Amino acid sequence: MTKQPLPVQKNEQLQVEIEDLTHEGAGVAKVNGYTLFVPKALPGEHVTIKVTKTNKGYGFARLLEINEASPHRIEPPCPIYNRCGGCQVQHLSYEGQLLAKQKQVKDVLERIGGIKDIPIHPTLGMDEPWRYRNKAQVPIGEEGGLVIGGFYQERSHQIIDMDECLIQHEDNDKIVAVVKRIANNYGIRGYDEEKHRGTLRHVVARKGYKTGEIMVVLVTRGQELSHKKQLIDEIQAEIPDVKSIVQNINPKRTNVIFGDQTTVLWGEEYIHDYIGDIKFAISARSFYQVNPEQTKVLYDKALEYAELSGKETVIDAYCGIGTISLFLAQRAKHVYGVEIVPDAIADAKRNAELNGISNVDFAVGEAEKVMPWWYAQGIRPDVIVVDPPRKGCDEALLETILNMKPKRVVYVSCNPATLARDLKYLEQGGYKTKEVQPVDMFPHSTHIENVAVLEMNN
Ligand code: SAH
Repeated sequence: MTKQPLPVQKNEQLQVEIEDLTHEGAGVAKVNGYTLFVPKALPGEHVTIKVTKTNKGYGFARLLEINEASPHRIEPPCPIYNRCGGCQVQHLSYEGQLLAKQKQVKDVLERIGGIKDIPIHPTLGMDEPWRYRNKAQVPIGEEGGLVIGGFYQERSHQIIDMDECLIQHEDNDKIVAVVKRIANNYGIRGYDEEKHRGTLRHVVARKGYKTGEIMVVLVTRGQELSHKKQLIDEIQAEIPDVKSIVQNINPKRTNVIFGDQTTVLWGEEYIHDYIGDIKFAISARSFYQVNPEQTKVLYDKALEYAELSGKETVIDAYCGIGTISLFLAQRAKHVYGVEIVPDAIADAKRNAELNGISNVDFAVGEAEKVMPWWYAQGIRPDVIVVDPPRKGCDEALLETILNMKPKRVVYVSCNPATLARDLKYLEQGGYKTKEVQPVDMFPHSTHIENVAVLEMNN
């Protein structure tokens, strides 16, 4: 068999029009039916490209020149945008990002789920889409004898020093800068990953947006941390809102940030924050949504779609620290939450108590096993909410939903592709997707969250 020549050759220069944007933020061009991915090119643009790699079904190209720019193209505000890789679409205006995310959700739901002719609303974005992150986790190292901290260069473990991150709360930037300066002043060594030497591995900063409270976590290689008193005094002097300074010890050679042992150096073990009226206690290692403002938008939508009157039994599957469960419990008769991580359930129980909410039960386990067990116990929810990880719901769980026959299913999703797959499964089982609301939790990244509501079709 003769090999079909590809329509493009490596190193070839071409002029193309960009037709689409991938979920990774690259432009898509078609040359005689052959797909080329062009990082940093935007839909509608006429560009000159150079082909860098050709596979059988698709290839990659580098953007050489923009001959006609998209009206949505902007100068990325962050000076290190191209090197960092933390954001993917800063070169697209925020309005353009919201439109692109809505289109992506529409396309994926139709292509994978066969779902069309239902409202897929405009993406709910932020009024001020900067400085939204409440947690910074910054790797610390050394360069030329100086302690540095910032981000890993793309596809490497080389740390690039950084002073500020535009999506991070200013106080978190300040904490990292202060800790670096103190470390340099007193000779506290940064961690050397290759030799597994040095002291300070990571600085983690957490900020409660509603309460203003701040936690500083110093992750060290061993027990030893010199100049503790100076560290505590100077952090407090520079950042008066600090409520908690803790040390976490991670002696392993690993990419995982935290070790098992945490000790309070000064102040509280927890800081607090609110989402809506619900108060959360946050420890060094607690999971907590990184964009609290948009989390409220997302969970308010889930609550609205649940249409609770106060009489309902509700299941919250993949409940994490119980954020959605506690939201729902204010309007339901009883809520059952299930989650696989024991620490998250311990937090969920603590948070229920902290808010005086007693009509919730939390279980540790795999949702796909616990739900059938609940079904066998005779639990018949009126509404089921799911908020699974990226891989979506387990089929056994979807099957249990079909057996339990709730009036309504509210699906919160961080991955449109698995959302589409799971909605299709539920539709084949007799449910109908009514509407989908995309919510932008991570401006300038390509991530997109959705809330979908399904009802029994009879
Ligand atoms: N709604 C949660 C976040 C959900 S993120 C909150 O607001 O905190 C998805 C969660 O699913 C994670 O907490 C993860 O630990 C959990 N998870 C992953 N696989 C699971 C499984 N098979 N059963 C139950 N929970 C699971």
